[in-house]
Amino acid sequence: MVRLQPGRHKRARIGHPWVFSNEIAMDAAAKALPPGTMVRLDAANGEPLGVAMFNPHTLIAARILDRGADTPIDAAFLRQRIAAARALRERLYPGGFYRLIHAEADGLPGLVVDRYGDVLVVQANTAGMDRLLPDLLQALDAELAPRAIVLRNDSSARTLEGLKTEVSVAKGQVNGPVELIENGATFLADVHSGQKTGWFYDQRENRAAVARLASGARVIDVYSYVGGFAIAAARAGAAKVTVVDRSAPALALAEEAAGLNQVRGVCDFVRAEAFEELERRATAGERFDIVIADPPAFVKSRKDLAAGSRGYRKLARLAAAIVAPGGFLFIASCSHNVDRPTFDEQVQRGLGDARRNGRILLESGAAADHPTHPALPESVYLKASLIQLD
Ligand code: SAH
Repeated sequence: MVRLQPGRHKRARIGHPWVFSNEIAMDAAAKALPPGTMVRLDAANGEPLGVAMFNPHTLIAARILDRGADTPIDAAFLRQRIAAARALRERLYPGGFYRLIHAEADGLPGLVVDRYGDVLVVQANTAGMDRLLPDLLQALDAELAPRAIVLRNDSSARTLEGLKTEVSVAKGQVNGPVELIENGATFLADVHSGQKTGWFYDQRENRAAVARLASGARVIDVYSYVGGFAIAAARAGAAKVTVVDRSAPALALAEEAAGLNQVRGVCDFVRAEAFEELERRATAGERFDIVIADPPAFVKSRKDLAAGSRGYRKLARLAAAIVAPGGFLFIASCSHNVDRPTFDEQVQRGLGDARRNGRILLESGAAADHPTHPALPESVYLKASLIQLD
């Protein structure tokens, strides 16, 4: 049992899933608990608050799994949560291709599971979730009977929790890229060594929004990864799609996926640095009807905030410069530490630097299979804007 400091139980009582380490009565017994121990959490007056995963070494010391103090956290418990998350996803995006579990928002702190049909890719990002892995694998198996389960336990979050980073296969085997279907298009994900779990389902709705504008358009996608936006635009009838990334393996999968979608003929694959490529094309006088710029996080930690935020300004400037009059810019940030007002300001400045004006058509975030816990608005990370330029 772990006890809170006097007066520190109010947030937990109204359903906040986290307790910070300075809110815990951190006595010798609590300090000695191995990271990830399942504990009963009590208020200072002994009132039970729930059952939590505890780590005495991290800022977020307790992550509450259930408000019933005596709820057993076992495979049956986990299966219930997984089943609820699955029912929601099947309602949102029927067919088995989605983010199945999005951590706290699905009542499973620290856990991410992406589903690629009968292949599951799991990230256990906290010590508590890591200790639960055997039960979790059993629960996933019982609920979904997947052909394969890959553990992408190589996120930087694990290092903060004192966990080792590694990629392994917990069930079956995965040889080569895995196919997935999104908005009717087929894509290929490298679940072993691609970015994150191999694919970014969070941009699903944004890809559809951009595709709606793409008929007959000249399109350039400058951080294409495996072609999510580019191929969606090509399928929607774009006249020509230029697909740019610095990663050869990502471009190879994009090219293969273009073939699977019968749009290879309108796509051009270019391995290049995004800023340099944008500058080069601007100088050459090239113009596009749609420019897509969905880069990796420029701000990885709070101390990079000032410098990293300026990256979005520069990106907006360079991307706007090659948008044809009346054309569209889609720009996104997945940096946790950059909030919406900061992102909007940097984009606005970038447009100003490029001497371009226009109108914001859509401000959006991650798709609904990446929901937000109501008490954790700060966990919103993806910000995107679709802007028409004069
Ligand atoms: N837009 C993609 C996701 C982008 S992930 C999608 O919809 O799925 C970020 C991508 O940017 C990665 O593929 C990475 O290889 C690429 N990248 C990172 N830095 C880059 C740079 N300086 N120039 C070009 N590509 C870069």
